[in-house]
Amino acid sequence: MLLRRLKLSGFKSFVEPSELRIEPGLTGIVGPNGCGKSNLLEAIRWVMGENSPKSMRSGGMDDVIFAGTASRPPRNFAEVVLAGLDSEGRELEVVRRIERGSGSAYRVNGRDVRAKDVALTFADAATGAHSPALVSQGKIAQVIAAKPAERRMMLEEAAGIAGLHVRRRDAEGK
Ligand code: ATP
Ligand code: MG
Repeated sequence: MLLRRLKLSGFKSFVEPSELRIEPGLTGIVGPNGCGKSNLLEAIRWVMGENSPKSMRSGGMDDVIFAGTASRPPRNFAEVVLAGLDSEGRELEVVRRIERGSGSAYRVNGRDVRAKDVALTFADAATGAHSPALVSQGKIAQVIAAKPAERRMMLEEAAGIAGLHVRRRDAEGK
């Protein structure tokens, strides 16, 4: 998938609606400590369906919602929109929204979908919350230390066939 736009509202430190254009080529994010660089990467993972508090550096899922500061009240929801082109060049817009205490809802190209559909959409576009395209701190060491089965999963994800496993698990009712 080709990422083109990222919109955030109430997500972690991005309390005001913010939009970033992702230009072709390599993108670098620079800024002082604590300005929100890692939060941007986490927003991309989160809209792709990440639910592990550890990879979101949070205790619970509601922790991604702006928690307030001395001068600003907390928000009740967070929303992230990721727009781009899928592997066939079609427009793809994925929205994830969380309301305090009531969990997440997803939309793909304007339609309400299940979390599972979002996982499939990204797996078919050879990306996703665990895609090797998103390289976080410590990830390189993890690749080196990975067991063969884990390394195979990374290769399958990169090859865009991870979606087939999700469909098989689904068909087997697991
Ligand atoms: P570094 O250079 O140290 O890696 P960074 O630019 O990656 O910094 P982040 O870790 O993305 O910075 O941002 C951390 C900031 O986000 C902290 O100031 C933290 O208070 C703020 N933050 C995280 N979650 C929330 C939240 N739910 N509500 C408000 N602010 C939050
Ligand atoms: Mg950081």
